Amino acid sequence: MKKVVIRSKQSAELIDTPEPKAKGHWAVVKIHVAPLCTEYKAFDSGENPDCLGHEAAGEVIEVAQAGPVKVGDRVVVMPQYPCGECSLCIEGEYIHCEDVVDIHQFTGASAGQDTYAQCLIKHDWLLPVIPEDISYEHASMLCCGLGPTFGAMQRMNVSAFDTVLISGMGPVGLGGIVNAVHRNAKVIAVVSNPYRAELAKSLGAYAIVNPNDADALLKIKNLTGGKGADKSIDCAGHPDAQKLCIHGTRRNGEVSFVGESDDLTVKVSDDLIRNGLKLHGIWHYNLNDIPLLFQVVREQGHLLDKMITHTFGMSQVEDAWKLQLTRQCGKVLLYPWK
Ligand SMILES: [Zn+2]
Ligand SMILES: [Zn+2]
Repeated sequence: MKKVVIRSKQSAELIDTPEPKAKGHWAVVKIHVAPLCTEYKAFDSGENPDCLGHEAAGEVIEVAQAGPVKVGDRVVVMPQYPCGECSLCIEGEYIHCEDVVDIHQFTGASAGQDTYAQCLIKHDWLLPVIPEDISYEHASMLCCGLGPTFGAMQRMNVSAFDTVLISGMGPVGLGGIVNAVHRNAKVIAVVSNPYRAELAKSLGAYAIVNPNDADALLKIKNLTGGKGADKSIDCAGHPDAQKLCIHGTRRNGEVSFVGESDDLTVKVSDDLIRNGLKLHGIWHYNLNDIPLLFQVVREQGHLLDKMITHTFGMSQVEDAWKLQLTRQCGKVLLYPWK
């Protein structure tokens, strides 16, 4: 099979590598669609990570034993290689598992976990079967497209009573609008890039605030009766955006951090205690919520078609990454067999 490797700064190519083999509860999936996430950053810097990509939907082509999936099933590929046995895994919070399995040790093979590839291997319990009426493209949004912001909205119980501030309109933040629209919540989108501001509006954002405006916080307050948003989600992963979420949220409100970053300075008295804020760290969602995610996908498919702005065959991966570097795109999909 073929997979992508990064050779040097802004240079990548396809190489041949052995297909993974099913073993125990691990099944082999032929990847039909691989949504792109933040791998373009490695492409831009020239580093070659051990594994490229973590989002995919495809078809089970080999199982080693009977289990929750069979050959021919259309499935979403959930992220990570958690143990499946600890209390976190059992309650559906597998994303936080502390006993992640070393796939190379388990399979004895060097490949099999990349999604920028034609096949991968995965625990069968992390391969939810896609309902017949949902396409691979839409189902693949159960990964980062809709996943982290769905997890944040579940944790904060976002409803039609809420105004939600979402900072960062990359391919994760845009999915936040889709999730909020599904819940009839109002979204204030924080975004400076005009292309993505336009896309956020077309997905249903109620208002757009440019974080580079000196009075961005005042604008958020003015849009929320002077109080601030009920709930906020930072998808930008930058301290300035994270602080805007903290300061732009009303007293007794909630803030979820979805965008990855390093240090953030928080004033415990002024920012937290006096304001009564709840802060959440959100990576993904509980596995038991999969049927709800399929419901969002089914009912908001027309929005997903807007959010997915570009598709590429895997042989054009360099063009796909170069497009992502321009930020003139929403979610971008790769087709490994084209
Ligand atoms: Zn575990
Ligand atoms: Zn991702």
